[in-house]
Amino acid sequence: MKHLKLTDVQQKKFLEPNHIHKKTIEITRDDGSKLSLPAFRVQYNNARGPYKGGIRYHPQADEDEVKALAALMAIKTAVVNIPFGGSKGGIQVNPKELSKKEVEAISRAYVRAFVDNIGPDIDVPAPDVNTNPDIMAWMRDEYEKATETYAPAVITGKPLSYGGSVGRDTATARGAFFILQELVEREGFDPKELRVVIQGFGNAGAHMAENLHGAGYTIVAISDSHGGIYGEEGLDPVRIAKYKKKTGSVSGEYCEGSVCDIEKMKMDNVRQVSNEELLELPCDILIPAALDSVITEKNADKIHAKIVLEIANGPTTPEADAILDKKKIKVVPDVLTNAGGVTVSYFEWSQGKSGEQWTESQVDDELKRIMIDAYREVSREAHREKLTYRQAAFVVGLKRIVEAMKVRGWL
Ligand code: GLU
Repeated sequence: MKHLKLTDVQQKKFLEPNHIHKKTIEITRDDGSKLSLPAFRVQYNNARGPYKGGIRYHPQADEDEVKALAALMAIKTAVVNIPFGGSKGGIQVNPKELSKKEVEAISRAYVRAFVDNIGPDIDVPAPDVNTNPDIMAWMRDEYEKATETYAPAVITGKPLSYGGSVGRDTATARGAFFILQELVEREGFDPKELRVVIQGFGNAGAHMAENLHGAGYTIVAISDSHGGIYGEEGLDPVRIAKYKKKTGSVSGEYCEGSVCDIEKMKMDNVRQVSNEELLELPCDILIPAALDSVITEKNADKIHAKIVLEIANGPTTPEADAILDKKKIKVVPDVLTNAGGVTVSYFEWSQGKSGEQWTESQVDDELKRIMIDAYREVSREAHREKLTYRQAAFVVGLKRIVEAMKVRGWL
């Protein structure tokens, strides 16, 4: 903040979200019982354009978490310089305990609860943790019904058959891949000599693994919420994805629950690791691609990577950040690394508004240009002002937001 030279009053204005919307949504479960759930939409800042940000379904999604994530969205859209503000939504629920019909019901109820707060030029939701294109389709449909409008641009991350954009499902990973390639090239590293550990095998983690494997990196460990596997000589993410699909876990080729085929593991030179152990494995690049606050003051000292590439939102706590900085580990922050998702959301939103349809190479080329421009801007700021990449990204983003707020007379 001190780099921005704001008065105390101006700082205060930026440090609070514009709106916090809270509702209780209620659905009827398949067995006829009622279920009430807390639901949130936090609209942080819209100086640069309509609010933008995903909706997550998670037991820990509460007001504080959604508020912090909404602020990150405002910074993120400014870092990649797309014309949006920042917001975030959430339902406090474990969707894995609900049937598909119940998930549809909570998704539609969410839109009805916040119908006056969202809209193509007001606030544009998208997928986040545990939400997907099917959910976005139900939400668009519910919004159009409730408002009696045609509104493909009300939400992004929709299925291709219902207003989605090519490349949106792979965008977060693709954007992170472009950033890493640029960094690796600038540092003069050879991808073939780089060992990578990935925590999380959801949409972003799995696609990132595929991109990196294709470019010659050696992926030595991968995990999901059940745990992970480590293979010093390298793992094949395509094979792992197949087993994950079949068995529900990344170690599905070797283990059924906690029972593993030790002989087969020995032959392939792999072993099981916990999610905690995984972060501390020897590697060059560590990619947290699951939930927040996994790198803390407790384990930061045990991290051996040269680079931490944050695909998850908020995986490193501030205390851990300071420790990693002291250890000279380069942290490429979430607001830069994972901005590919919202960038292709912007392409989807533009297509929804104009009726145009972009090709795969149009999306890929434009995403690459935006991500690399953002990387260079952040890197320049970091070197010029002797900042960490996270501090530099915040300065780049905040400067743009403050400028827009001043132009509008809000500051
Ligand atoms: N949930 C994603 C994020 O945290 C995407 C948001 C969007 O596309 O609006 O960046």
